[in-house]
Amino acid sequence: MKPAEQTKNTEFSRFLRAEVARVAARGPKPEGQCEIIAVLPAPAAKAEDKSAPKSGLKNQKAAKKSSSVLVRKGFEDYRVLAGRLAGAEEISSKAGSTCLVRFAGMRGADHVLFVGTGSDKSGVNALGAAERLRRLGAQVAHKLSAEKIKSANVYLDSFLGRETALAVSADLAAYAFLEGMGLASYRFDKYFSKADKKKDGALSVKLVAPDASSLLKYTKGLDTAKALVRGAEICRDLGNEPSNELHPALYADRAKEFAVEHGLKISVLDERNLAKEKMGLLLGVGQGSVNPPRLIVMEYAPPRAKKTIAFVGKGITFDSGGISIKPSARMEDMKHDMCGSAAVAGAIAACARLKLPVRVIAVIAAAENMPDGKAIQPGNILRGRNGKTVEVTNTDAEGRLVLADALDYVQDMKPDYVIDLATLTGAATITLGKVCAGLMGNDARFNRMVKDAAAQSGERVWELPLFDEYFEDLKSDYADMRNAGDTPANGTAKGAMFLQQFIRKETKWVHLDIASVAYAIPHIPYNPKKSSTGYGVRLLVNLARNLK
Ligand SMILES: [Zn+2]
Repeated sequence: MKPAEQTKNTEFSRFLRAEVARVAARGPKPEGQCEIIAVLPAPAAKAEDKSAPKSGLKNQKAAKKSSSVLVRKGFEDYRVLAGRLAGAEEISSKAGSTCLVRFAGMRGADHVLFVGTGSDKSGVNALGAAERLRRLGAQVAHKLSAEKIKSANVYLDSFLGRETALAVSADLAAYAFLEGMGLASYRFDKYFSKADKKKDGALSVKLVAPDASSLLKYTKGLDTAKALVRGAEICRDLGNEPSNELHPALYADRAKEFAVEHGLKISVLDERNLAKEKMGLLLGVGQGSVNPPRLIVMEYAPPRAKKTIAFVGKGITFDSGGISIKPSARMEDMKHDMCGSAAVAGAIAACARLKLPVRVIAVIAAAENMPDGKAIQPGNILRGRNGKTVEVTNTDAEGRLVLADALDYVQDMKPDYVIDLATLTGAATITLGKVCAGLMGNDARFNRMVKDAAAQSGERVWELPLFDEYFEDLKSDYADMRNAGDTPANGTAKGAMFLQQFIRKETKWVHLDIASVAYAIPHIPYNPKKSSTGYGVRLLVNLARNLK
């Protein structure tokens, strides 16, 4: 530590001691170990910014530097403290910055955690208000966990306001903030042989509101957040399981367990049923493995449901590439090749938990793609359930094969909408980076609905075109189509183009290529550093919620 910093810190501690005594003397606070309060940028500084001439960059900078941070009205006890701390540069309104003040041994709360909300950012590419609150919630959860704090009172009112563009409704605010906290608290540690002594107990969070009606709205948001976080946990747990613990038959067993837990109907088609259904594409992919494929169909059918939506997920429990085998580097990540189907499972569970008045069908096309004496070989021709034939030119383009049969199957159940999620192409990351999923569909209105749901959940999507010309590269000399083309050009859309051959004219359908976002996305604070993100669960549930 540099001497200058040392001096500053000594001053800071002296100041804190005095200030803490002053605040504590004011009487008891609501019960809790930690109170969480937002720090906003001062509105005066913003007004100054606005009135500054456009060329006056210097003025703007000066205004920013001298601007103080603010604690919202109703929290006067902390206003002075925050103001002084700002002077000491210990506290900031920068988005996600945290400053924990310890009140140990005093009356009232033991600690106060000040959280910077950041300032207003608008524009088409800015994060929405709900997503910013979600990320703030995650940052708070990480800080509380690092400080081993077990219970907290959140003064959510202090976060909401025009200065921060966080002017959203109370239930949405509570939902997003708590969802962020919940998602950030996820752990996957079941395979460590020693019980984790450091394991945090569950964090207890209480929302504190200025009046009873706000509290009621907050509670509504809390219920939604709980169901969605649980759905995402189901997805992450499935996504993180190694393939020796989650091959297709074991996957079906797990699905049966949580179908019972959530009151869902379930049927599992084994290899005999799949043969009866003439699902030659799904069977073909699975034939190189000692663990045969399964089609898992779950249904949540509440009385008086008017609409039906079908979620279909790619469930390749391990993708070696088959005979077109993959290079060995990071091949262990290929246990995540079922994340699309895990999202579908988590989503239907959450829909049931929220008792949505919509019929939801979830289909998991589960298979293990392995090289073996019986495995399909490049050049083999398979026949799908809808009668179309496919020349398999690359056995590593297997996801589209299993999905094609699953999509054909689910259309017999007459859904109003069909959406599939799949870690389908590496090209999705090349096109969009690891920040966004690719969206392709055959109905502009349904595409829009999916985009709206994605905006609500903060799970980004971007639409790619399905130009007819893209199919040219999938034409085969020997069959109706081939599963891979000659060029890597527009690989993501070409994957969707293949799937579209199995979509009936009347079906409203969207394909989400989630290969770029399904695992290892650490830059989002509510995601685990590595492993499955749970992408898609909340998007799907919002989509179903908006249907009612
Ligand atoms: Zn593959």
